[in-house]
Amino acid sequence: MNSVLSNLESLVRPEVRQLVPYETKHLPQCIELDANENPFPWPAEMRESLYTNKMAFNRYPDGMGRDLKRAIGAYTCISPEGILIGNGSDELIQLILLTFGGLGKSVIIHPPTFGMYQIYARLTDTTVVPVPLLNGLDLDTEKMLEAAKSPEAHVMFVCNPNNPTGSLFPREEILRLVRKSGKIVVVDEAYAEFSEETLIPEIENYPNLVILRTFSKSFGMAGLRLGYLLGQPETIALINRVRPPFNVNSFSQKAGILALSYLGEYQAQIQQIKEETLKLHQGLTQLPGVVVYPTQANFILFKPADPDGWADELLKRGFLVRNMGVLPVLGKCLRISAGLPEENEGFLRAIQEISTGSTCDLELFLQK
Ligand code: PMP
Repeated sequence: MNSVLSNLESLVRPEVRQLVPYETKHLPQCIELDANENPFPWPAEMRESLYTNKMAFNRYPDGMGRDLKRAIGAYTCISPEGILIGNGSDELIQLILLTFGGLGKSVIIHPPTFGMYQIYARLTDTTVVPVPLLNGLDLDTEKMLEAAKSPEAHVMFVCNPNNPTGSLFPREEILRLVRKSGKIVVVDEAYAEFSEETLIPEIENYPNLVILRTFSKSFGMAGLRLGYLLGQPETIALINRVRPPFNVNSFSQKAGILALSYLGEYQAQIQQIKEETLKLHQGLTQLPGVVVYPTQANFILFKPADPDGWADELLKRGFLVRNMGVLPVLGKCLRISAGLPEENEGFLRAIQEISTGSTCDLELFLQK
């Protein structure tokens, strides 16, 4: 048996042999503040309408996602030919690299940033060229442009606002990368509804600019896996060549269309999430010895004196936060996303306790 297994291992692509599977935490018994999701339920009428909708699940979905693209088009002011839909924006990252990356090509990223760029680079044999953020927070435009001079560099990812730092980069800096690099610049705007900043109106000016969006964050659909990519029709057509034919299921397509007809309700949720984020930021800032970074998203990066200890103590009290490990320049940090108001209050009470060294009984705490 062992020899069969080791034989199988030898058949695996060398890049995959070194890969560690991406493991996500899922602790539904905890208050999950680790994944930057929208904690609010969907608008009640929308949920009702989606669940009672008669969908023909015995049929394949519309592989072209026509109705969904029309709805996204109305929301973003981009024509359907300039839209590609994906099974989460994660899938679209992979499609971009399948199109423009590959062996002998490289992708420029700005660590610390979203981890999937690097993972999909590996899977597509694309070399990663890291250009760390200045002071761990700001875009190093000059160095990124320098790196883009290499003929191997085909793609650049700019995450704006950036996950995990929460930084929002100046639009002029990003546009300089678009104008001067001559490479594919992917601006990942997963959190744009919170920052209220977007480069979508610039798409018509630059064929090398593509913008990545998701329904997972502000629209509260992380479980349905729905994302989209915007660009000029010719650019999108290139990426469409590598898209699997039925990559977005019928239910998610329908949910996306419906969500875009409840923009007023979502806008109210987004405002509330922004207020909750500010409340958490203020609460964290008041604690001695905790560095809290500015944010334009629905999450906060912070650095207590003992991040690992804090993550453990928070978990004991029923709060799951994201332990970011060691980030370039910033060191060990934690990240927390805004939860429901009562969850955030509980979190603030918990960190108060942890920072003053008092203990807490989880059962008692959850009954409060
Ligand atoms: N981009 C960024 C910056 C993210 O933070 C995430 C999710 N954490 C994604 C893309 C992927 O989102 P999804 O695949 O759920 O659309």
